[in-house]
Amino acid sequence: MFYLENQDLSNKRVIIRVDLNVPLDKNSKVTDTTRIEACKVTVNTVIELGGSCVLISHLGRPKGKEKKLSLKNIVDTVSIIMGRPVLFHEDCIGIDAEKATSVLKPGEIILMENLRFYDNEIEGDMTFAESLSKLGDVYVNDAFGTSHREHASTALIAKFFKGKKFAGKLLQKELEVINEIAEKGKKPVLAILGGAKVSSKLKILYNLIQKVDKIIIGGGMAYTFIKAKGGNIGNSLFEEELLTNAKEILKIAKESGKEIVLPDDTIASTDFDNNDQIKTFKSGEIEDGWMGLDIGSSSIEKFNQTILSSNTVFWNGPMGVFEKEQFSKGTTSICISLKQAKENGVNVIVGGGDSIAALKKLGNKEWVTYISTGGGALLESLEGKTLPGVKALSNDY
Ligand code: AMP
Repeated sequence: MFYLENQDLSNKRVIIRVDLNVPLDKNSKVTDTTRIEACKVTVNTVIELGGSCVLISHLGRPKGKEKKLSLKNIVDTVSIIMGRPVLFHEDCIGIDAEKATSVLKPGEIILMENLRFYDNEIEGDMTFAESLSKLGDVYVNDAFGTSHREHASTALIAKFFKGKKFAGKLLQKELEVINEIAEKGKKPVLAILGGAKVSSKLKILYNLIQKVDKIIIGGGMAYTFIKAKGGNIGNSLFEEELLTNAKEILKIAKESGKEIVLPDDTIASTDFDNNDQIKTFKSGEIEDGWMGLDIGSSSIEKFNQTILSSNTVFWNGPMGVFEKEQFSKGTTSICISLKQAKENGVNVIVGGGDSIAALKKLGNKEWVTYISTGGGALLESLEGKTLPGVKALSNDY
C-alpha cells in the first residue's frame, strides 16, 4: 500500500500537503489549532524516517496575494506545536523556493506560502503542479479535508512521484475509520444521519444502506421518510422530488434485512422564527400549520436503545434545529447516548461541523473514539467514492 511505515526517507526532502486552513482572528492570530496539531504525527514520522519536511497548504480563499491570508501569520504557532523551529518561504514555486528547500537538512521543516495565492492551484493546472513537485524528492498527502478536490497540490502533483508518494498518518487514519464505518466495523454497525435535507445525503443513504446494519434518520431529513410511509408531516421540511427515493431506500432496507429507524415523535412549532407555540406530536400525525423542529422524548429513548445495542456508531448531522435552545435536546441526547455507548466499549465516530459543535457545547469531546477532520471529503467518501487525492497516490496514476 501507499503508507509511510518502513519507508526509508533518509536525506529525502518530503513535500507534505497538509491542511493548515485554520481560523484566524482579525489580527490574523490562530483561534483554533486543531488542524495544526492533526498534522504533527506525519511531520514527526517523516523526521523519524530520516527526512526533512516541506509543508504546503492553502489558507482561506484569497483573491491574489492577500497579506492577511499569508501562511507567515501562522508559522510561529506551527513552530510551537511542532516543538522545533519552522522556516518560512514567501512563495510556493519558483527558483528561490526551490533553492530554499534544496538546502534542507534531515529534521528541518519549512512552510511554503499559501498555495491559493495562485489561481492555478484550484484550477488544477499541471504546470503549477510540476513547479510544486520541484520542491522535494517524495510526496505525502496528509490533507484529508481537501482530498475530494482535484487541485494541483492534492491530486495532480502526485503524477510526478511514481513510487515515491504516500498517504500521511492523518489521511491513513481517516481512510481506516471510513473503512470501519462502511466495511469492517464490529457489528451491528449503526449510522445516525441528521441535518436539514435528504438531498445532501441521498448518495450516502444509498451507499450506507448496503454497508451498515441500521440507520437512524433524524432532523429535517426524517419528514420526507415519514411522508413516504404515509404519515402527515404538517409544514415540516419536505423534499417532494425525493419521495420516490425515500420509498426506494425504505424498500431496500426491508428487503435486505436492514433497519431504518425514524423518530416516533416530534417537537413542533407554528413558525420557524417565532417559537411562542410549541407542541409535541406523534410522528406522522403532525397537524397542518405545525412544523417539526426536533425529535421528542419517545424518539430520544428509542434512539438511545438503538445506539446502546450497536458496536460501531457513526454520527453526522443534528436531530433538530439545535442552534435554538428549545430544539437542541434531541441532538444533545445523541451526544449523551454516544458517551454512554463509548463507556460500554462501543466504537464512536463523529463527523461534520454541526455534530462536532454539539459535542463541544457539552464540553469535553475527548471521549469520542474518533472525530473526522473532513467535511465534504468525509461525506464523499461515505458515498462510496475514492477521493481524487487518494486515487492519485496509487502508482497507476
Ligand atoms: P445539514 O447542513 O444538512 O447537516 O443541516 C444542518 C442544519 O439542519 C442545522 O442548521 C439545523 O438547524 C437544520 N435542521 C435540523 N433539523 C431540522 C428541522 N427539523 N427543520 C429544519 N431544519 C432543521
